[in-house]
Amino acid sequence: MNNAIYNFREPVNEPVYDWSKGSVEREMIEKELREQENKIVDIPLIIGGKEIRTGITGKITKPTDHGHVLATWHMATEKEAGLAIEAALKAKDAWMNLAWMERAAIMNRAAELISKRYRYVINASTMLGQGKSIHQAEIDAACEIIDFLRFNSHFASVIYREQPLSDNQSINRIEYRPLEGFVFTVSPFNFTSIAANLNTSVALMGNTTVWKPATTSLLSSYYLMKIFMEAGLPDGVINFLPGQGQLISSVVLKHPDLAGIHFTGSNATFNTLWKQVSENLALYRSYPRLVGETGGKDFIFAHNSAVPAELATAIVRGAFEYQGQKCSAASRAYIPASLWPATRDQILDMLADVVPGDVTDFSCQVNAVIDEKAFDTIMGYINRAREVPGTEIITGGRGDKSKGWFIEPTVIVTPDPHSVTMEEEIFGPVMTIYVYPDDKYSETLAICDATSPYGLTGSIFSNDKYAMIEACRKLRYAAGNFYINDKPTGAMVGQQPFGGSRASGTNDKAGSYLNLTRWVSPRTVKETLIPVTGFRYPYMD
Ligand code: NAD
Repeated sequence: MNNAIYNFREPVNEPVYDWSKGSVEREMIEKELREQENKIVDIPLIIGGKEIRTGITGKITKPTDHGHVLATWHMATEKEAGLAIEAALKAKDAWMNLAWMERAAIMNRAAELISKRYRYVINASTMLGQGKSIHQAEIDAACEIIDFLRFNSHFASVIYREQPLSDNQSINRIEYRPLEGFVFTVSPFNFTSIAANLNTSVALMGNTTVWKPATTSLLSSYYLMKIFMEAGLPDGVINFLPGQGQLISSVVLKHPDLAGIHFTGSNATFNTLWKQVSENLALYRSYPRLVGETGGKDFIFAHNSAVPAELATAIVRGAFEYQGQKCSAASRAYIPASLWPATRDQILDMLADVVPGDVTDFSCQVNAVIDEKAFDTIMGYINRAREVPGTEIITGGRGDKSKGWFIEPTVIVTPDPHSVTMEEEIFGPVMTIYVYPDDKYSETLAICDATSPYGLTGSIFSNDKYAMIEACRKLRYAAGNFYINDKPTGAMVGQQPFGGSRASGTNDKAGSYLNLTRWVSPRTVKETLIPVTGFRYPYMD
């Protein structure tokens, strides 16, 4: 009998390896990269723990070398979407009735497996399949996944511990029921850790999922699924369903037992899902929980008390790491005229050293964008900006798709704070800068706040406390993750719970207890110890 009341203590973040030349880790990752480059994996669907091959296949190629096939994958049809729902519903009862600590044990085992046995596998597949440098893969696919798994166990213990008052006459308690039904999880291409968290946060709280991974990140998603299974995740708790989004949604979103959607991706896709759910409302047993973290148009704002070297570093790292394909990537900046010449020179100096290349070449800080569609969209933005009078591209601006989807880190300087590249999410290595008159600080803060529909991340650089606080206040709703004197990327689980509002999503803060509360439907239970008899109250006598 297990009658312990168990608490997972607050973990510390997983240390980041530095992968320096000559280290054992460097040797191991290079070996793993070679092995993964020299084979073609056949990726099945995994439903109720069983591999299914539909024979309708696609190919996964390297973004840095699109002629190089890494994997073939099998696509779900309507039939498999139905089977995945059935499997999730079948697995639900046993999974939700397992003591929560046993579910957490599986999550912690998966964290240990990734930290030790599979660190190289998950990092190499993220590097090759999603076009990440070793450092970007390490902080995402290894460290952030491990952090999500360990921290969420701790957050769950905090949630389960939270109970209402009781008195001598009655005992009150809250039962943190999982949602009634299954949860549809839809993951984006850009973070392996998000794919992991979208499923495991939900599963930890006793739910089962139908997971539609992004096609372009299928290699790492598949390895992830295998690791969860090796960690002891029972069959049917997470059902891996690669396929075409629209087709899968057409089945999933019409099912009466849809209990929630856990989504990360573009604003357009989330809006489509939300609309479809609204149209189908009458079909559902419960109101599905809709949790979606979407796009961003993230900013760096400088006051004239800022230091140009700090600003230039934040711009180069914040805008161009992982080729700007982070929802949090800086893509617009507001620099006072007095700081611009020094900041510009330092940006240009730094970018002279940043040359896109293959992920297996560790000297490259940036690599290729994810696929041809992204390449064409991003180049379209750059080419249109080139045509706008007064706009200057001070570095970059060229793309080359002959071998991989390479785009140079590009800095556009615009005289118009409402130009297209200041307003729309580009999701590529493009930073647009508006240089403002020093005496228009407050007015420019107001422009920054009103420029884009998004509200995800942003930073203020200032050494003047009053100016800093004015920015914090005026930009209150412009960013759900706000940074002072730092770049707006690199949120860590447990340290900077992540999410924004406005068009950036429902702001349910992945990496905190707040997200986990969305996956439970609490039941309050009152037990009266001696029930009363007689219906009259004293005031009636
Ligand atoms: P996307 O919206 O194109 O795709 C996301 C997922 O939705 C993919 O799995 C895709 O196949 C699926 N999909 C598309 N249409 C669908 C449909 N009709 N039904 C069901 N699924 C469907 O996004 P992406 O290109 O993979 O990712 C980039 C976007 O994600 C950017 O906008 C970025 O800002 C955002 N993002 C946000 C966060 C955040 O935390 N706010 C984090 C990462 C990425």
